[in-house]
Amino acid sequence: MDVRLREEVRQRAGGRCEYCLFPEPFAELRFQVDHIIPQQHGGPTSLENLAFSCFRCNKCKGPNLSGIDPDTGQIIGLFNPRAHQWSEHFRWEGARLAGLTAVGRATVNVLQFNRPDAVLVRETLLEEGAYLGRTDQGG
Ligand SMILES: [Zn+2]
Repeated sequence: MDVRLREEVRQRAGGRCEYCLFPEPFAELRFQVDHIIPQQHGGPTSLENLAFSCFRCNKCKGPNLSGIDPDTGQIIGLFNPRAHQWSEHFRWEGARLAGLTAVGRATVNVLQFNRPDAVLVRETLLEEGAYLGRTDQGG
């Protein structure tokens, strides 16, 4: 990954994961540049197809393009930080993330936003007032 391109992606995201909004300075593992359409599916390495992502979200997303909406059982495309508004699809419930739409619910599941360890880390940061992810972020 080109260093300058990575920096552009990081700055555009305000240094936060574009999926779970985790702030990079508080992460144990270096954030990654996610191909929204994975390279395996022909997604290019260009700004429009890249998103800043924490290690965990990136790992869970892998080469996935879609997930299952648990409410309907339908196959739904995952949240796309370039095409979707975060606050239209997700809502904070304390330290947990809830999906507001089919896209949101499918993404919560595939990216495992509410893994117990992830919720625990968020709770700690919330107590310290460090989780800026509570405020809405535009697309
Ligand atoms: Zn994340």
